[in-house]
Amino acid sequence: MPKIGRKVLGVSRTFPQDSAEMTRLVLFDIDGTLIRTGGAGVRAFERTADLIHGRPRGTDSLRFHGRTDTSLVREFLRTHRIPDTPWNVRHFLDAYVFLLDAELRHGAGELCPGVREYIQALRALPEPPLLGLLTGNVRLGAALKLAAHGLTDEFVLGAFGDDHEDRNQLAVIARDRANRRLGRRLEGHEIVVIGDTVADIECAHHIGARCLAVSTGGMSLSDLLAHSPAVAVESLEEPVAGTVVGPGHAVSVPTDWESLYRVGDTRWDKGQPAPGLADFLARNPSLPKSRVLVPGCGRGHDAVAWARAGHRVQGLDLAPSAVADAALRAPSDLPAGSLEFVAGDFLAARPSEPAFDFIFEHTLFCAISPNRRDEYLEAIWRHLRPGGSFLALHYLQPRDPSGPPFGVTVAEILRRFGTRLELVGHWVPPSFEGRQHRERFFHWRRPAGGIGKSGS
Ligand SMILES: [Mg+2]
Repeated sequence: MPKIGRKVLGVSRTFPQDSAEMTRLVLFDIDGTLIRTGGAGVRAFERTADLIHGRPRGTDSLRFHGRTDTSLVREFLRTHRIPDTPWNVRHFLDAYVFLLDAELRHGAGELCPGVREYIQALRALPEPPLLGLLTGNVRLGAALKLAAHGLTDEFVLGAFGDDHEDRNQLAVIARDRANRRLGRRLEGHEIVVIGDTVADIECAHHIGARCLAVSTGGMSLSDLLAHSPAVAVESLEEPVAGTVVGPGHAVSVPTDWESLYRVGDTRWDKGQPAPGLADFLARNPSLPKSRVLVPGCGRGHDAVAWARAGHRVQGLDLAPSAVADAALRAPSDLPAGSLEFVAGDFLAARPSEPAFDFIFEHTLFCAISPNRRDEYLEAIWRHLRPGGSFLALHYLQPRDPSGPPFGVTVAEILRRFGTRLELVGHWVPPSFEGRQHRERFFHWRRPAGGIGKSGS
């Protein structure tokens, strides 16, 4: 049976610059993202529970990170067997904002690093996006926190903890408010959500938006990355944070392949093996049974074709959702152990030895940022045994810096791979409709020894 392998974290592909330029809405979380209140909100909650309900330390069991105020109040009420009626919730929150105001006046809080500069940079863009809030704070609580740090006038819209208890629904509400303001429906890729918790990442995914995750709220970068934000940074001071939303920050930004799979935006997936691969396997029925790696396997159609031809196959992809889908769809009648799917980064993986007899790829090279193409060749070298074959079905197009797909030419392929690998042949393969004569099949062999010394 196919299995899902370990999850390897990392991002290695770039977001097309022209798509990044289309960001029309940036939604900020407040606590831990814009502001660290020094615990003012938590203390105000605790004091409210005591003042209104006579429950000193009554909020000790609540976990505040990423929650909406309304859901916190309801949980408090239920925990203490107090009816969570709308009136009780409202009454609690009214007292809470009063006490929050008092707490904020004590002034222990601070802006998170880089916030003011980041907002200024957004405003300075040729076509500045709308700036909004996406926060679990009730509207008045949010206003008090922003006012305490001079941010009151920075945001033109928002969704708040008194709009809905569920943060994912807040994302929908914020987007819909922006739609009304702009007079049109925003697409997910036009929206960026900036936040410091898993809840922020998840609500971005919920509306198909990109998430810029910041670790200024206490969660570690690796914990944030485990939930597949588009980008994760220590703080908004990091230059890469600016690349998510606009031109003038010409650094490449990783494509969030995981989000694209989650929202089903996988136009490259044709639902069947590449015709060029099917043709190659049909014309070579007596290939020795081999270990085959299919990097960038997506939902696994090509990997299945190799397994059907009798080989032992590993499909590898950055997106855990693609890998999970591939494992689910894999035919059940294949011999045990003939097919596995692993979530991982082909460019980053460091196998202990080059174990594969064949590496086959289809439209992976063109999806990787051109400045990482040397790493791609190194990765081939680390995975392919001496004497093994690298088979690549390349999508060709004139040089285009605004991919993916990025520009790929026959001349570059021959020059780049010819430095280390021996060319067996290349030809025009059969292709999916619309791609005819835009693909080329290359068959390379890693020298059995001698030529092309091992890379660093
Ligand atoms: Mg937060």
